[in-house]
Formats: sequence, C-alpha cells, structure tokens
Amino acid sequence: MDGIAIFSAFLQGLGIVAFAGRLHELAITRCTSPRWETAATALTFAVAAAVSMTFPLRFAPGIIFDLRHVFLILAGPFGGLPAALLTAAATGGLRFLEGGVGLYPGLAGIAISTTIGLGFAWLNGNRDYTLAKVSLLGLLSSVSITSLFVLPLPIAMELLGRISIPIIIVNFVGVLIAAESLNRFRVQMHREESLARDSSTDPLTGLSNRRAFDVQGPELALNGIQKKGRYALMIIDIDRFKSINDTFGHASGDKVLKQVADAIASHARDDDLVVRYGGEEIALVLPGCDETRTAMIADRIREGIENSTVEVSGINLKVTVSIGYVVVDKPGMGFWSAFEQADSALYRAKNAGRNRVEKALAERANAA
Ligand code: GH3
Ligand code: MG
Ligand code: MG
Repeated sequence: MDGIAIFSAFLQGLGIVAFAGRLHELAITRCTSPRWETAATALTFAVAAAVSMTFPLRFAPGIIFDLRHVFLILAGPFGGLPAALLTAAATGGLRFLEGGVGLYPGLAGIAISTTIGLGFAWLNGNRDYTLAKVSLLGLLSSVSITSLFVLPLPIAMELLGRISIPIIIVNFVGVLIAAESLNRFRVQMHREESLARDSSTDPLTGLSNRRAFDVQGPELALNGIQKKGRYALMIIDIDRFKSINDTFGHASGDKVLKQVADAIASHARDDDLVVRYGGEEIALVLPGCDETRTAMIADRIREGIENSTVEVSGINLKVTVSIGYVVVDKPGMGFWSAFEQADSALYRAKNAGRNRVEKALAERANAA
C-alpha cells in the first residue's frame, strides 16, 4: 500500500522534474551573464524542490515523503554551491514549517543529501556526469533515510521496513531522469557555444576572425566612445611576408604568422579586440585608449617583434611589422571610415620603408 502511494507520488513528481528541467533551460538561455545564470539555476533547483514538497505523502503524523532529495542531491553537481545552499535553505525552511516528530530526521536528511551532492561536485571538477556517476548519485540520494534513526529505534525500524525499498527505487529513478534531462541540455549548450566560437575564431592564430570583427568591431568602438570617450583602431601588417613564404615555404610562413599574432595579442587587455583581419594583417580595437597609450602600444609591438626571432628551418629569422593607427574621440566618425584612416596610415608606413608606426593624419582623423 505504501509502495503504491510512493509510486503515485513519484509520477506526480515527474511532472515537477520536467517543469524544473524546462525552467532550467529557460534560465540558461535567457541569462546573458554567468552571475545571472548561477542565480537563475540556484532558484530553479530551490523552487523545484520546494514545489515537490507541496504535496507530500504522510506515513505518520510528521513523517512525510516527497522528491526533495532528487533536487537536493543534484543541486551541487549541476548548479554548484549557490544552488546547493539555496535548495537546502528552501527545503529546510519548509520542513521546519511542517514540524512533527520527523522534523529532526527531515532536517538531518536535507543536510546529508546537500553534503553528498556538494562532495560529489567537488570530486568531479569537470562536471562530466556519465551514466555510472549519475546512477551512483541516484543511490546516494537515499542515504538520507538513515536520518530516521534520529527517531526511537523501534519506530525507525518499523518505518524503514515499510518504506525504504520504494523510496530507494523512486529516488534512484527520479535522479536518473532529472540528471538525464540536465545533461542533455548541457551537452547541447556546449555544442552550440563551441560552434559559435569556431565560427568567429581563426584556427591558425586562435585570434578572432574577420566575421567577428565586422560585428564586434563597430560595437566595441561605439561602446568605447560612449563609456570612455574614445577608442583606437590599429592595423598591423607583416613586412615582406610573401618572400618568407617563397623562401621557406607556406608552413614556415604559418609559424611566423602564429608567433607574430601571439606577440601582438600579449599586448592586448581583456576588453580589447584582436582579430586576424586578412592574410597577414591583424587589427586591434582598443576601447578608451588615448593617443599616448596607443602610440606606446604600437611602438612596443613593433620593437618587440623586431627584437625577437622566429626559428624556421634551423634559421633564426628576423621579422618586422608596419603599423597604422587612428584614435577616435568624436562620436561623429563611423567605424569604417576610422578603419580606412588606419589603413591609409599603414600604407604610409609601408611606403616610408616598413618596420614603422604611422598615425592617421590629424586633419583627416578629425573630419567627422
Ligand atoms: P608588404 O611588406 O608590402 O606587406 O609585403 P608582403 O609580402 O607582406 O605583402 P603581400 O600582400 O604581397 O603578401 C602577403 C602574403 O601573405 C601573400 C600570401 O601568400 C601570404 N599569406 C596570406 N595568408 C597566409 C597564411 O595563412 N599562411 C601563410 N603562410 N601565408 C599567407
Ligand atoms: Mg605584408
Ligand atoms: Mg597584407
């Protein structure tokens, strides 16, 4: 009889699991910042666990069963410390309000499942939950019923005899189903993220590519003007790169390009955009960068590359770059006209003998 009641409560609980899974998907796809994502996930686990406690099965006054342990045990592994603590607080609070002789075993059970979930998450830093690991979690979700031993021994033994087997099965299947849906969604998200990353990254240098530049460049420039009053745009081109390819071969050319790209990227800050714009051309958007700082960065990049060597075919090759830049501090100038100005400055650096830095001509830079 108890078994049938527990299984029918489980079927009700499945609806909550499905609802929580959908809520979790919505939270992750709608939240743009990782902090909001963490908060929304924590809230989802806490709400799901709380809802699962709304229609508990009562075995004796104050002795209740529901699917809270499915959520408690999964909160740590899938939502981290915030989800685990919030879910524990929500279920603990509700259990406190319910009261009865089962209050202390109930609270102890919540603490046990939360601790197991967090310990499990801690041991699995990579968050890769295989079926075997999830099955183990499923079994561990019933460890909490040992908290019944807080009650006098005869009562605890009588209750365990009546309800432990169905509870273990129901918790196990509940964890399996909930974790499967969380895992499936996680894999799908990772696949979408890596596709988006691949389509905006240059595979040789690891820098952003032109597609990313066309979208992010103007956005970053506008942001720089609005928030910091200015931005700088720099275009860097390797000198006589064709002759490196012609003399040492394309693979050596690739090696030079990669090393130059790494050297340039090492001068960028987190909110700068560094892209491989064309074959051996690298462009930088530097929000907030003024004339003095831009000139200093350009000089450092040029000097750094000039003073280092790239080892190709046993030879330590010297490579140089030419740089053109523009600093924009007027909202009127469009991003692409700024780009043209930096490109003209680069052209002048090439014509003036290469291995040089040139800035956009002042009268042109100010002509909005
Ligand atoms: P300049 O000093 O005027 O810039 O001379 P350059 O030889 O660097 O300029 P040019 O535009 O004539 O040559 C650029 C070369 O870059 C031609 C092309 O074969 C080479 N290139 C473009 N993309 C790649 C690449 O991915 N790998 C390699 N190895 N070479 C590339
Ligand atoms: Mg070149
Ligand atoms: Mg070029």
